Amino acid sequence: MPAAPMRNLYLRTARPPFAAPPLQGAVTADVAIVGGGYTGLSTALHLAEMGLKPVVVEAGEIGHGCSGRNGGQVNPGLKLLPDEVEAHWGADLGRRMLALSYGAPDVVFGLIEKHGIDCAPARTGTIRAAIDATGIAGVRALVEQCAARGGPVRFLDAAEMKAATGTGLYLAGALDARGGHLNPLGYARGLALAAQRAGAVLYANSRATSVQRDGSGWQVTTAGGRVTAPELVIGTNGYTGDLWPGLKRTIAPVWTNIAATDPLPEAVRRTIMPSGAALYEAAWDVVYYRLDDEGRLLMGGRGPQRDARGPQDYRHLVAYAEKLWPQLRGVAWPWQWHGQVAVTQDHFPHLTAPEKGVHLMLGYNGRGVAMATVSGRIVAARIASGGTAVVDLPVRNRLEPMPFQRFWRIGAEASMSWHLLLDRLRGR
Ligand SMILES: Cc1cc2nc3c(=O)[nH]c(=O)nc-3n(C[C@H](O)[C@H](O)[C@H](O)COP(=O)(O)OP(=O)(O)OC[C@H]3O[C@@H](n4cnc5c(N)ncnc54)[C@H](O)[C@@H]3O)c2cc1C
Repeated sequence: MPAAPMRNLYLRTARPPFAAPPLQGAVTADVAIVGGGYTGLSTALHLAEMGLKPVVVEAGEIGHGCSGRNGGQVNPGLKLLPDEVEAHWGADLGRRMLALSYGAPDVVFGLIEKHGIDCAPARTGTIRAAIDATGIAGVRALVEQCAARGGPVRFLDAAEMKAATGTGLYLAGALDARGGHLNPLGYARGLALAAQRAGAVLYANSRATSVQRDGSGWQVTTAGGRVTAPELVIGTNGYTGDLWPGLKRTIAPVWTNIAATDPLPEAVRRTIMPSGAALYEAAWDVVYYRLDDEGRLLMGGRGPQRDARGPQDYRHLVAYAEKLWPQLRGVAWPWQWHGQVAVTQDHFPHLTAPEKGVHLMLGYNGRGVAMATVSGRIVAARIASGGTAVVDLPVRNRLEPMPFQRFWRIGAEASMSWHLLLDRLRGR
């Protein structure tokens, strides 16, 4: 069955507009960047602000990948708990990674303010919500470990969760005041505009078809031209192809779907997420949702591990929303789209510098609005310092392929079926 055309809400709601021409002919740059999502755009913006000339080539329009499709949640922190991060990377690097990731929303909202980006930013907090005993334990651990590090994270009991969300389904939650939400495509376009104003050059509809050594630097070739630069950045995340040998074997490009309503009638809207926070559930199939600035409900979660083929591939999200808030029954969900997030084996983002002048940055495990933004800044700082800057992410010098990566789709589908069966047995 063929893929259904996507109905991506942000193509309707995102401002400002941003149009870049395709690359034609040969250009030179200080840094050639492949990928026009947050990673590539943030790298370009920060490089240009440091006086270097970056050139970005993007296969589609700017924000074509995850950055123009995501849930818009600006989540503080990494996928793993703070204690786990420090246990994995040691006290020094672990602590710096925590400062980077929990401080990442400050960077996002700071860039929005500095560059006047028109993307409906709302610093209303992020809630991690527990639906079972395991979730409660996770939420408690998050609150305690963040509090121990001075983080503004509050435990919400079931009654407080009901007040915050309008549904009685949740047993507990952790509210992190550092988080919030925004219009993701608007944010991507705003970053692009800021980068362009700072001196970066951006080309859209210019898929890089090869990268090869060119003397001491690199040449990126597209159908219409080529970019030559001493430094190369690849930020293609879940849309990584065969451009750099082995890169796509380091991630699983997992599909996730979103369904959205039109602006809800005021009486209904007032009863849903009164806190205005963004929320994700602590569960195997991470459900995530928020209201946007015009009162639409955006409901994200698992999908089939292929391009969606029609409304049937979003029906479970609508059914779940109606379970949370029965007053939604009968409301239409005209917006439905999907995308591929890059999941890594160790759940950490991967910055790899496998050769001189090459920087491969990807794998945000569904937290890239904040993490890709700060990672782009880190890549820019490394390049500007000639590779000497101490950065707050581990820098790998070789790619680490996922075991059995070729079979990721079978693994993801099997895991989903197994968990769905368990949920049914538990009556969830
Ligand atoms: C449905 C969905 C919901 C999500 N929700 C959230 C959320 O709420 N919060 C959160 O923090 N994160 C979320 N994420 C993840 C987040 O969007 C990503 O982590 C982030 O956008 C990654 O940015 P990026 O620039 O690395 O990748 P992308 O934005 O995917 O950009 C990569 C770009 O590379 C381009 N490209 C690929 N190959 C080539 C080539 N050969 N030549 C030129 N260009 C190329 C692609 O076209 C693409 O535009 C979600 C993702 C999806 C799909």
